Amino acid sequence: MVNTPTVAERLASTREEISRIERRSGREPGSVRLMCVSKTQPSDAVQEALIAGQRLFGENRVQEAPKKWPELRSRFPDAELHLIGPLQTNKVRDAVELFDVIETVDRLRLVEALAHEVQRAGRAPRFMVEVNTGAEPQKAGILPAEADQFIRICLETYGLPVVGLMCIPPAGEQASPHFALLAQIAKRNGLAELSMGMSADYELAIQLGATCIRLGTAIFGART
Ligand SMILES: *Cc1c(COP(=O)(O)O)cnc(C)c1O
Repeated sequence: MVNTPTVAERLASTREEISRIERRSGREPGSVRLMCVSKTQPSDAVQEALIAGQRLFGENRVQEAPKKWPELRSRFPDAELHLIGPLQTNKVRDAVELFDVIETVDRLRLVEALAHEVQRAGRAPRFMVEVNTGAEPQKAGILPAEADQFIRICLETYGLPVVGLMCIPPAGEQASPHFALLAQIAKRNGLAELSMGMSADYELAIQLGATCIRLGTAIFGART
């Protein structure tokens, strides 16, 4: 008989693994935050992670958050929720209300809509700029060549509190050049946060400077 590990067990072993990788890569202990990607997961599974002490979560669809999170947040007020999927301008109001960090800022029209909503609501989440490091035509994210100017516009023209960058490297490619590129762009723009690395490649991401890794299947098992 093989017992499937529980969410709490996976969390514990993953946290240990992150510590080992931090030590091996000369990263400061505790400098890498673990985000549990709870997209498609039922409230029960998320609650299990919360009870095990996990506080940082990511959802990729704005519509999914209101179904799970108001209830969970009322019981775990210090939970932190990030949006890690594409944001349509017509969902900006919900997103600003529901998320602590919006990681997928990637075009001027969205920046305008976000700045407008932050003014209106008097509430500002923190923001990250998504970079399309592989310049894939179908993928969201600002192109690397346009990133510096875009970041400046977010910060200076619109006053958005941009704290870092995120990327999703092209599927089936070596991730390290993409992580290295993201780290370079963040460094030259003075941004501290790097959201990069998923279940399959988080060790590389930590080696290359990730401050937040986004793990779904490693914690919750395969999505159905
Ligand atoms: C689903 C998702 C993840 C987690 O992927 P896993 O391979 O399950 O760890 C991370 N980041 C984003 C943007 C995602 O959509």
